[in-house]
Amino acid sequence: MVENCDILIVGAGTAGSYLGWILAKKGFSVVIIEKDKREEVGKRLDVIHFETDRIEKAGIPPFHVGEPDCIEIRNHSIVVTPDFTKEIKIQALQTIVRLTPFLNRMYDILESVRAKLEFSCKFKNLIYKDNNLIGLKAEKNGLSIEYHAKLIVDASGKVAVIRTSLPQDYGIETFELGPNDVMYVLLQYIKWKNAEEPHPATDTGYNWWLLWFGPSYDPDGAILGVGQPGSFENARLSREDFLKRANLPPYEIIKKEQGSTPYRRPPYSLVGDRFLCIGDAAALTYPFSGHGVTATWMLCMIASDVIEKRLRAGKDLSRDILWDINVKYFRDQGAKFAGLFTQLSGVLNFNEKEWNYFLKKGLIYQTGEGNDIPEPNKEYEEDMSLGDMLKFLFNIIGGLIRRKLSFKHMKRLLQANSLAGKIKKHYENYPENLKKFGNWVEKADFLWAQKKLAVKKLSSVKIEYL
Ligand SMILES: Cc1cc2nc3c(=O)[nH]c(=O)nc-3n(C[C@H](O)[C@H](O)[C@H](O)COP(=O)(O)OP(=O)(O)OC[C@H]3O[C@@H](n4cnc5c(N)ncnc54)[C@H](O)[C@@H]3O)c2cc1C
Repeated sequence: MVENCDILIVGAGTAGSYLGWILAKKGFSVVIIEKDKREEVGKRLDVIHFETDRIEKAGIPPFHVGEPDCIEIRNHSIVVTPDFTKEIKIQALQTIVRLTPFLNRMYDILESVRAKLEFSCKFKNLIYKDNNLIGLKAEKNGLSIEYHAKLIVDASGKVAVIRTSLPQDYGIETFELGPNDVMYVLLQYIKWKNAEEPHPATDTGYNWWLLWFGPSYDPDGAILGVGQPGSFENARLSREDFLKRANLPPYEIIKKEQGSTPYRRPPYSLVGDRFLCIGDAAALTYPFSGHGVTATWMLCMIASDVIEKRLRAGKDLSRDILWDINVKYFRDQGAKFAGLFTQLSGVLNFNEKEWNYFLKKGLIYQTGEGNDIPEPNKEYEEDMSLGDMLKFLFNIIGGLIRRKLSFKHMKRLLQANSLAGKIKKHYENYPENLKKFGNWVEKADFLWAQKKLAVKKLSSVKIEYL
């Protein structure tokens, strides 16, 4: 059996469903295949956070608190210094979502615009004609189905089943994610035994341990999360280190979840002949949070415009025809993320004393009181005014003189910032002309090779951030 469509998407997670929806709305025939059963997609995670402003930008039909897929819409978070002496209130515009009900809402919306969803349908292998990708074979209930499409989209998550199966010379990197390319995340849904006893407020972060208490569906509970690269054991030891120091009131663990989220640069090209990768399959996450859902929707908006124009013009979706997706994405969000990812390697080097100093002096988060709390940096720009810059430098010099900051780590921070600026600029100059791509990649490799390993020493574990 052969089925034809305009766009075939592998994976009905948050990335595949969103792209499928916006393309089907434009009138293209979209098929999404998903290996899991409809009611089970996304079950590996229950509660998940979306950036509220990005939901609006992506045009997702609004969330309503109290409906099955929305627990809460929050504006603030708290960050606590590693010595537990100061709480900093920051603005964070987060919608707290239940993943499986959200995906099921998306599936109804997708079907309302005539996209076809095939659940329990697993990708098997790609089909080529004259070395060109033209389709794939999948298996559903023991039956083999062949799909032919003008574009195949890999939205299969971290396994990237399509991208990693492409031939090495297809014009796209086929890397798999190794232990240092991901953040291993452990989640415990907890319930405070005596909810009236003081305990960390909902949505409180402890950056030194990369640990947080996120909102849960239980008002007397929280989700205790921790993420570290290298292994789940690193994450567990980081949590253990925190618990030894935190003096928490008693709680019980209701359920546990675990997983990993990409923590590396995306492939230099997201497109090949008749091919596009999005979401975790493209290693696309916010560098500072590891969140991936709304970050990829920004790419999908760009991709759907380019695909629409090219298909309406009757073009074959070859790599050069799709190239504009790379140009538009990497020159904007891609450049910002590349810069931030590089800056992180400077920040992650700080020791505990330095984290205390930086947080207390308001050098990492913009702080204030009540309504004075500045808007979060939604567009991920470095937008320091001259006054802020002078204040920043004054505090750094003060910290160095009073030995609250080490020269060695400050030098690493400045080096990381300088490299971040160069990498960001390089991505902002992503080549429009495919002929210049080889040289661009060469320079990008040269710049990324200068990014230094950051190391954090906790009481029982040393964690390396590549
Ligand atoms: C513990 C944890 C907490 C997180 N919290 C957040 C958060 O709060 N906010 C946020 O934005 N991000 C969060 N993330 C990251 C986020 O989950 C991912 O970035 C996001 O889910 C990626 O979506 P995706 O659609 O690309 O991939 P996925 O959600 O992995 O979806 C891929 C789909 O492809 C299907 N598939 C795979 N292989 C095949 C195949 N062979 N054939 C057919 N189908 C296939 C899978 O079954 C799956 O349904 C978290 C990650 C973890 C691990």
